[in-house]
Amino acid sequence: MDASKIYILGHKSPDLDSVASAIALAELKNKSENKDKYSARIAGELNKETIFALDRFGFEKPELLENAQGQNLILVDHNEFEQAVDGTQEAKILEIIDHHKLNFKYSEPIYINCRPWGATCSIIKSLFDTNNISISKELAGLMLSAILVDTVITKSPTVTDFDKTIIEDLARISGVADWKEYGMELFKVRSNVKELADAEIIKSDFKDFDFKSGKFGIGQVETVDLNEFAGREEGLLLELKKLRENNNYHSVVLFITDIMKEGSLFLVSSSAMEEVEKTLGQKLEQGKVYIDGILSRKKQVAPLFVKHFDK
Ligand code: MN
Ligand code: MN
Repeated sequence: MDASKIYILGHKSPDLDSVASAIALAELKNKSENKDKYSARIAGELNKETIFALDRFGFEKPELLENAQGQNLILVDHNEFEQAVDGTQEAKILEIIDHHKLNFKYSEPIYINCRPWGATCSIIKSLFDTNNISISKELAGLMLSAILVDTVITKSPTVTDFDKTIIEDLARISGVADWKEYGMELFKVRSNVKELADAEIIKSDFKDFDFKSGKFGIGQVETVDLNEFAGREEGLLLELKKLRENNNYHSVVLFITDIMKEGSLFLVSSSAMEEVEKTLGQKLEQGKVYIDGILSRKKQVAPLFVKHFDK
């Protein structure tokens, strides 16, 4: 281990916000402390829109950190050990910046900055401002991309007025003329799943939750056209069942969000289907149901499951 280094990293199954947040926070901290000890890392392989945005704004892919044991860490975009890279329990956590529900216990006081905003990158943008540090054109573009994905181009119920102001700011700094159009471009890259195997689709944005009733896995995919998934539902359901049985999940859920229709198709494999139906407030037909108005795991789906299965 390198005691002089502090690694900043996001959650497993990294998404664009967790990667961009790590890069942005490392830059902010290195600049404001005039040091070079902060370094962004990733906790797994990158998804397509992350690779696309890094490439578009000229960033290298951060190095993979396979095990965090014994390292100094700053966690961004997550705070649950369940979602953190292996070895985090044996690491020294210095700080957390996040926008998810808190589920974190630690043996000493640390700096935690959690706000109910649309993206961790929005919080970090505000830190640049309060520290009077300027943001490069490239970094602004990368952070903008992350906020657009996390807020589903501001359509998600997680978006706040802060995020909207920050999106305008970052679009101006980065020179992205039409951020809505750029957001659609990102989602087209993101939802281009045709060549992905069923298991890869499920894992592309998948989170584990440790509830009192058992282990749950909730994956989300967004698309600009739900029809792209027609004909794949049976295969995905079969894969969810395998995943659940092989890994001892109580339930695994994949919800496919149509960002144009603003609703989601739920695919479920569970050891207690009726309980999941009660949770969703909808009957499942062979493990499937479309629910209008559901766009967010964090603000809509996860809270329903917490309420039902973590009491
Ligand atoms: Mn994330
Ligand atoms: Mn996020």
